[in-house]
Amino acid sequence: MTEGLEVTAPADGAETHGAEIPGDSFMLESWGWTSNPDACEPKIHALASLLNLEAPGPIGRVTYQSKGNALVIAGRDESRARTAALALAAQLHVTLLAPRRIEGSGLTAWAGSIRSLTGYLGEFTATLDALDTGTGAAAKPVEAKFDLVLDFGDASHFAMRQPPQGYYRAPADEARLGAMLEEMRGAVGEFEKPRYFAYRENICAHSRSGIEGCNACIEICSTQAISPDGDHVKVDPHLCMGCGACSTVCPSGAMSYQFPRVADRGAQMKQLLSAYRVAGGQTPCLVFHNSTDGRDLLAAAATEGPGLPAHALPMDAWHVAAVGLDLLLPAIAFGARQVVVLAYQYGAGLMELLTPTNGALMAVTAAAGVKYGDWLKFAVPLFGALLALSAVAIVVAIALRI
Ligand code: SF4
Ligand code: SF4
Repeated sequence: MTEGLEVTAPADGAETHGAEIPGDSFMLESWGWTSNPDACEPKIHALASLLNLEAPGPIGRVTYQSKGNALVIAGRDESRARTAALALAAQLHVTLLAPRRIEGSGLTAWAGSIRSLTGYLGEFTATLDALDTGTGAAAKPVEAKFDLVLDFGDASHFAMRQPPQGYYRAPADEARLGAMLEEMRGAVGEFEKPRYFAYRENICAHSRSGIEGCNACIEICSTQAISPDGDHVKVDPHLCMGCGACSTVCPSGAMSYQFPRVADRGAQMKQLLSAYRVAGGQTPCLVFHNSTDGRDLLAAAATEGPGLPAHALPMDAWHVAAVGLDLLLPAIAFGARQVVVLAYQYGAGLMELLTPTNGALMAVTAAAGVKYGDWLKFAVPLFGALLALSAVAIVVAIALRI
């Protein structure tokens, strides 16, 4: 199946052995560096051969426009919120909302409380109760528009696991808050991101004649970007963060991932595995990793340890949740002996279930009337069991040389 593919000479630099590669973690990882460079020749050749492929066709874009109109929600942390609002006021137009009006140089001071908050970067709508801009409290809820929101409140105003871009939850740590303020100052202007998904409603199985069928994509989406729309669903591309989970769980193929498209990813896998085999490589193992912490982890393994084994071929994925059967089965068919999906980032997701500064955890436990200490008594043994199981699995995998 993989015969007949053209594999031309490796690109410049691709023949460089790991020991000679400068200490740039990205280059180390993308060249497949390990502590055994001689054994890596087929892998390095295969990775370099990807440059022979035509660039994938263009995909749609989603735009955001922000004029820097920021809302700072003080919550009970009025002093800290005022300091942050003043720090932003030199670059942004800042409105500080608190139970009572808090004046400050360059600030717009409002009193009131948030009834609801919706939207995304450049398009937030806050519905405010008892709004007092200095002329007395309004009798009815008032809507106000903002581009950015910095929230010092006790709980997040967004229920989804991944809140929208432009919404910042103030961390307790001052250094992290400083970095967040810096990011907010830069969030002015027009921004673009890929339209990560494509949806074909004619083959969607969401509902027919009022009888509900599939809800898989709605339930899996961590950003609440997908919602019912009659017999179909609709996706808000501004809320979508591109994890690809909706396409992975979609049973009909109505939802597909575009970053990259499955066909483009298939061509990459085919080229990679074919070139590896032609160069004399054996028992290839594809390693899917994300382009953020997964990549950092592999790069750290390369700089601080032995790195990936010689037969492990890294493939960058925007988000590993997009790696489903539509990629895993072709990988095997194209000659991969193993496929590994590096799901390192889920460790952070699991730890959020114990972290006392996680707003969603606090909100859910408070709503259920469960004290944090009681929650820990319940959750920690489960975490311990999970850790022990993971440790045993790793030891067994190493012993079996998997
Ligand atoms: S790609 Fe992820 S974030 Fe975007 S709509 Fe699908 S599940 Fe939601
Ligand atoms: S998972 Fe697929 S079939 Fe199911 S509702 Fe979503 S798009 Fe439609």
